Amino acid sequence: MVSPMSASYVCADCDHPFVVSEPDNDPRCPKCARTEAVEPADDSALQSDIWRQWLFVFAILFIAGIAYVVVQ
Ligand SMILES: [Zn+2]
Repeated sequence: MVSPMSASYVCADCDHPFVVSEPDNDPRCPKCARTEAVEPADDSALQSDIWRQWLFVFAILFIAGIAYVVVQ
């Protein structure tokens, strides 16, 4: 889980993903030291959150199915 004080970025110049613990207005790529090619990488975090929610739904259905069988 990403804390609110960190932000994920990806460098469009060298495709290097990195996390800034204290985000500011000018994050710098630690690999090539560029600042103008750095873009926020919020999409991957959002997709992992959706995937985690689906896992939670499947877990609930699985437990409900076991409970249904046990009750029978
Ligand atoms: Zn870079």
